[in-house]
Amino acid sequence: MEENQKLRRAVLNQLESLNLAGVTHIPTETVQGKKIATKSTSRSNTDEGTITMTNRPEDLAIIANEVCECTLCDELATTRTQTVFGVGNHKARLCFLGEAPGADEDRQGEPFVGRAGKLLDDVITNGMGMARADVYILNILKCRPPGNRNPLPNESKNCRNFLDRQLAAIQPEFICCLGAVAAQNLLETSTPIGKLRGQLHTYNEIAVVCTYHPAYLLRNPAAKKDTWKDIQFLMSSMGISRPAKKK
Ligand code: SF4
Repeated sequence: MEENQKLRRAVLNQLESLNLAGVTHIPTETVQGKKIATKSTSRSNTDEGTITMTNRPEDLAIIANEVCECTLCDELATTRTQTVFGVGNHKARLCFLGEAPGADEDRQGEPFVGRAGKLLDDVITNGMGMARADVYILNILKCRPPGNRNPLPNESKNCRNFLDRQLAAIQPEFICCLGAVAAQNLLETSTPIGKLRGQLHTYNEIAVVCTYHPAYLLRNPAAKKDTWKDIQFLMSSMGISRPAKKK
């Protein structure tokens, strides 16, 4: 009985996490064409049936489903509470890319929810004048490395296919890499983050800007001014102006 309750809670947590990631339906059967049978991932919508979906949520749902079941990295698959797919607008112009879920993210199934997440929220809302729901936030790895260690090369390699397909489904115009691990993995380079900053890179024809990870800024507040320069560079590249200060 207790096992059933645990399983039920785990399934509900995972559905909630997928829902946050913009996945509103999980395909139960793929057929040739645009229509697929679905189960809702929303707790409030339990309808099942055939729904004609736009291409991108459909793609995201398929990938998220695969991620949930993935056990490619032995250690991560056995120590994670749940996978952390991503969160936000599946049609976002801008994606923020971090390295991997931490303890809070692993518990809640959503990326950037701890102290570092609050700082990222501040950058998005107060700095850029956007809402967290306007952008899409994801990580290189979908599972938490124990003790918050850096992703191992084979883990990044294992998860790369999910990342590439997730970004292809969202099709953002811009990606902002948060920290060296995210930037070096995405761009497949060993160039230090200090040298990657301040220029536009490209990944599959998407413009990429690199800055420091919010967790680094919490440890080194003096670097906030450099991050602000990077965000201003990102905004000018996107054609966004700084929001007027409230009086
Ligand atoms: S990190 Fe990625 S590849 Fe590794 S087990 Fe998790 S979902 Fe699979």
